[in-house]
Amino acid sequence: MSKKNSNNDLMDKIVSLCKRRGYVFPSSEIYGGLNSCWDYGPLGAELKRNLKNYWWDSMTNRREDIEGLDAAILMHPQVWHTSGHISEFNDPMVDCKTCKARFRADKLAEARCPKKPSKSPLECGGELTEPRQFNLMFKTFMGPVEDDTNVVYLRPETAQGIYVNFLNVKNSSRQKIPFGIAQIGKAFRNEITPGNFIFRTREFEQMEMQYFIHPSEDEKYFEYWRQERWKWYQSLGIDMDKMRWHKHGDDELAHYAKAAYDIEFEYPFGWQELEGIHNRTDFDLSRHMEATKKDLRYRDDRYQEKFIPYIIETSAGCDRTLLTLIVNGYDEVEVKGEKRVFLRLSPKIAPIKAAVFPLVKKDGMPEFAEKVYHELKKHFKVFYDVSGAIGRRYARMDEAGCPYCITVDGQTLEDETMTLRDRDSMEQKRMKVDEIITFLTKQITA
Ligand code: ATP
Repeated sequence: MSKKNSNNDLMDKIVSLCKRRGYVFPSSEIYGGLNSCWDYGPLGAELKRNLKNYWWDSMTNRREDIEGLDAAILMHPQVWHTSGHISEFNDPMVDCKTCKARFRADKLAEARCPKKPSKSPLECGGELTEPRQFNLMFKTFMGPVEDDTNVVYLRPETAQGIYVNFLNVKNSSRQKIPFGIAQIGKAFRNEITPGNFIFRTREFEQMEMQYFIHPSEDEKYFEYWRQERWKWYQSLGIDMDKMRWHKHGDDELAHYAKAAYDIEFEYPFGWQELEGIHNRTDFDLSRHMEATKKDLRYRDDRYQEKFIPYIIETSAGCDRTLLTLIVNGYDEVEVKGEKRVFLRLSPKIAPIKAAVFPLVKKDGMPEFAEKVYHELKKHFKVFYDVSGAIGRRYARMDEAGCPYCITVDGQTLEDETMTLRDRDSMEQKRMKVDEIITFLTKQITA
């Protein structure tokens, strides 16, 4: 099997696992689905929530210099003129005169022609039009009258909500520079070629942090945030051989950026951006200051003059990180001649932290196991399963990404200890319920 085929195969297996185990479903599936829209099922919703909480916790609760924000999706339309999105937030688009498909002109190598056998539009021989600029912002109307004066946009990034609230947050929190504002929220881009499952969609969630600094310290904090974000992925157990840095060349830099690095991950469909770290200089605050005539300059006793802060941005996609964790965790292993799937998610973000099983359905084991389950449920998301052979129950939880299984057996009834099995090392240890709670808490909050 060629590498390309086996990688396509891997993506198919991941999409199918996500559906089977309730991670991700096609949106409006009973109506035939809607291109590039996906719904998170019971385990997916839990994983996404855990991931966002983990990011929020490391960005805000565990620090003293970053405040949280939750700005509206709809903003004053002038914001998007000021930010440059109306004039600059374009992708070059080409049409194929042969098959009538549309492609992003700067991503032709990774695009696939709808005609079979599916090839890149660079190879299929179809005649392409000259590139045209296509604005990626979704428009809608505010109020009942659908005319140009009532146009509003669905935000294409969460960052602008942070910039326009810079003064509000600074004044209410009394933070001093350097400080940051973090936000998680939906963003919308009318992508020309969405695809690769939840990698590129038109509706997605971002986890963004904007760090306001003195202009003389931009290189120092740019470096600092690059290291911090790299370590953050490492702490989630991502294989660092599958991560790399991509430095933006002058031709790639966004209109607002002085320097930019992407953290890239090796997906089954190739190396792609997972998160962007940008030095946005004073571009955004200067533009908003000019447009609104509000003084967005900063001053405190440490500085002689007022200045417009520079901004270092860390911008991660929540859905893309979730896909990364699933790709990273997907593993097939031969166990006793049978191919078994493991989803090796870190306990920090795994949707279900532990499953509780009675070894057999008799001798008081189910009653004891249920008591343990209810006790653990007060602390963590846990699952109780009594049906089927114990091996099958383990296998179901391994595939669902659950890191620990707890089994109540004959010995439990004598000394109250149960086996706690680690999905990845397969090690089993005997523990009482209090020890299990302490152990799980340590693994989840480490
Ligand atoms: P690309 O070059 O892939 O279009 P970008 O450079 O435009 O991405 P940014 O504007 O830097 O992306 O957005 C920050 C992050 O938001 C990205 O690193 C990615 O994780 C996420 N993101 C951006 N666009 C999408 C999308 N269409 N679907 C899912 N996530 C996205």
